[in-house]
Amino acid sequence: MKQDIVSLLPEELADALAELGEPKYRAAQVFRWLSRGVRDFDEMSDLSKSLRDRMKESFFIYRPRVLSKQVSKIDGTIKYLWELRDGNAVETVVMTYKYGNTVCISSQVGCRQGCAFCASTIGGLVRCLEPSEILDEVMFSQLDSGKPISHIVLMGIGEPLDNFENVMRFLELVNHPKGMNIGMRHISLSTCGIIERFDELAERDLQLTLSVSLHAPDDETRSKLMPANRGRGVDALIDACRRYTEQTGRRISFEYAMIDGVNDTANHAQLLAKRARAVGAHVNLIPLNHVEERQFRPSTPGHMKAFIKILEEAGVNVTVRRRLGSDVDASCGQLRRKMQKHSENGVPAGSAD
Ligand code: SAH
Repeated sequence: MKQDIVSLLPEELADALAELGEPKYRAAQVFRWLSRGVRDFDEMSDLSKSLRDRMKESFFIYRPRVLSKQVSKIDGTIKYLWELRDGNAVETVVMTYKYGNTVCISSQVGCRQGCAFCASTIGGLVRCLEPSEILDEVMFSQLDSGKPISHIVLMGIGEPLDNFENVMRFLELVNHPKGMNIGMRHISLSTCGIIERFDELAERDLQLTLSVSLHAPDDETRSKLMPANRGRGVDALIDACRRYTEQTGRRISFEYAMIDGVNDTANHAQLLAKRARAVGAHVNLIPLNHVEERQFRPSTPGHMKAFIKILEEAGVNVTVRRRLGSDVDASCGQLRRKMQKHSENGVPAGSAD
């Protein structure tokens, strides 16, 4: 079986190349090509033809293809749909902020978590992404857009903690000084709250930001919105967050999508404030993005204002996420979903706009 070369760390690459009879330094040479985004052995021009041929026998390499690229006329946000080796597709979004360019990447094709407001989970989980596939979302978003990427958010399609080992390996690869060298402090990982993985993540002692998609401070509302809450519960989630913060010294961020009449009352705000204070979390409010298949609507500006006021008066650090790329299929999962619907209607996925 051929090995996925882009998923290998330099040390592993050295071992794999040693098996082909190559000296250790060869790995540095090859890793340099890979880190520049070269995805064709024949383009590695300082390697002998014989080595390139042997590598083709031992490894596979793939360059994701752009299925669709949309550029927002409002704010320049770029939304990519990439075609993977097996014909599946994932989304990546490049956003420009004052502090640099951020890429929002997917960790799975589809998702099994079933959040009631989310487009990514509608077709369920198809498969997990390989480390190389996650890395290449960053790599080729940067190369294609010409925008140097400084920040990464794992907030695209999929639940990163349901693809734990591959996501951890991706982090090592993208953070590697000889690779893309993106600092852990510039990376956020977002989870719906797979608390069984929190301690394991804390043990890795990465300096990344853990974002927890809370969306409701009480079990009744949260279990309705997020099946991941059932059998776990908000109390256990808050405990896990507290342990994580104590162990890593890193402040957690709560994501909270404001949904009209569902999670945006004064009671919700007060309980949310209590939850946030219990772990010293920062709260990031997001006006819900309306998803065609879902009945939910975003909270009104008036309700949002009142909600923010309660949080602020309780001393909670709160921000409202700016909506970027609203003219390019908005929140993640929606572009892939659109393609799926096209294919369901008999139009091949690749031919949609
Ligand atoms: N599975 C991970 C990461 C992917 S989603 C998680 O649950 O955190 C990234 C964020 O977008 C999550 O906070 C998710 O709850 C939120 N989200 C999903 N659908 C949304 C929508 N329609 N409007 C606003 N936020 C949404």
